Amino acid sequence: MKTRAAVLWGLHQEWQIEEIDLDGPKAGEVLVKWEAAGLCHSDEHLVTGDVLPDPSMLEQFGLPPSFPIIGGHEGAGTILEVGEGVRGLRVGDHIAASFIPACGRCRFCVSGRSSLCDMGARVYGHGQISDRTDRHHLNGEGVPIVAKLGTFAEHGVINEASAIKVDPDLPMEVVALVSCGVATGYGSAIYRAEVKPGETVVVVGVGGIGINAVQGAHIAGARNIVAVDPIELKQKTALELGATHVASSMSEATQLVSDLTRGVMADSVILTPSLMYGDLLAPALSLTAKGGTCVVTAVAPLNQRDVVLDLFELAMWQKEIRGAIFGGGSPRNDIPILLDLYRNGQLKLDELVTRTYPLEEINQGYEDMRAGRNIRGVLVM
Ligand SMILES: [Zn+2]
Ligand SMILES: [Zn+2]
Repeated sequence: MKTRAAVLWGLHQEWQIEEIDLDGPKAGEVLVKWEAAGLCHSDEHLVTGDVLPDPSMLEQFGLPPSFPIIGGHEGAGTILEVGEGVRGLRVGDHIAASFIPACGRCRFCVSGRSSLCDMGARVYGHGQISDRTDRHHLNGEGVPIVAKLGTFAEHGVINEASAIKVDPDLPMEVVALVSCGVATGYGSAIYRAEVKPGETVVVVGVGGIGINAVQGAHIAGARNIVAVDPIELKQKTALELGATHVASSMSEATQLVSDLTRGVMADSVILTPSLMYGDLLAPALSLTAKGGTCVVTAVAPLNQRDVVLDLFELAMWQKEIRGAIFGGGSPRNDIPILLDLYRNGQLKLDELVTRTYPLEEINQGYEDMRAGRNIRGVLVM
C-alpha cells in the first residue's frame, strides 16, 4: 500500500512529507494506522545529530547509514492487519507504541526489567526486528524507521513486541504521550529515584520528561518537589501538576533546597534537561543529600565522556548515580497502569498537550518545542 510519512534526509534539515510504499506485515508483525504521535525531543536529537554515531562507528558495527529515516517513536494507533503467528493483538485493537520492544521472554523481561529487553539492541540494526528486511520503501529503496516504529506516518508495520494493547476509549493523543515521555519521567521518579512519602525531590529540566517526573514524585507522596527550569510556562505548569517550589537554575535551587530541608538537601535529584552534559552532574550531586540518589534520565551526545566529580564526597556520603531508560519501567506493565492513573485523574495528561498539529505541520511543531512554547506538541493524523 501507499502511505505518507515525515522523512529526515540529513542533519539540520526540515522534515519532508514523502510517499512511502509499505509492504504487508510478515510473521510476528502488525500493520498499524497511526492516529497520534508525540513530538518528542529524542527525534529532535536526530536533526541535531547528538545521538547519531559518526560514520566510522556505523561501519565498525555494520549499521545502516543514518539517513534518510522515518521519524517518530511515540505513537498511538489502530491495528489494521496482523501477520502470521501474532497472538496478543487483533484487528481493531488500539495500541501504544513502545520504543523499547518488550519480548516477554529474555532474562531482563522476565525479571521485570523490560526497559533493558535484549530485543532493544535490534532497534539500531537494519530493517525489521524479525528478519532485518524492510517493509517501508522510499523511491524503491528500503528506508529505516526510528526505534523500529516510525510513528510520524499515516501507517506503518511494526513488530508485535513494540505494540502495547490499550483500552479503546482512551484519547489517542494521551496514549501517544504515555508511550515514551510520560512513562520515562514517571518511572524515573518511581523506579529509579524510588521516591517515598515525605521526601524532597528536585527535577532539573521540566520538558516532556521532567514534568512527568514531577507528577511521579507527587503521586509517590513527596513533601517537597522543586522543579528547576528557566522558562516561565514550564515553571507554571510544574506548579499546577505537583511541584511545590520552582527555581530557574540548580544554583538558585541550592539555597532553596537547603532551607526546605534544614541543610539535609534532596533525597533524590532527577536530571531531565533537553540534553545531558557532564558538567551538570557535580551541581546535581551537591543538591543530593547524604545517601541520596541522582538519576540521569536525559540523553547525552554519543561523544560525551567527561565528568568532573568529587569522588571523596560520592563515597563518603554514600551517594548514588543511576541511569534510566524508559524510567526503568516495563512497557507492558507501566503503560496500562499510567493510563489507569490518568482515568482516575491522578495523572494529568490532557494538560500536557499544548497544541496538536497535522502531519504536514511537523516542522512548526518542532519550532514551537525549540522556542519553549509547548509542554508537548502532538501530531494528529
Ligand atoms: Zn520520546
Ligand atoms: Zn525481552
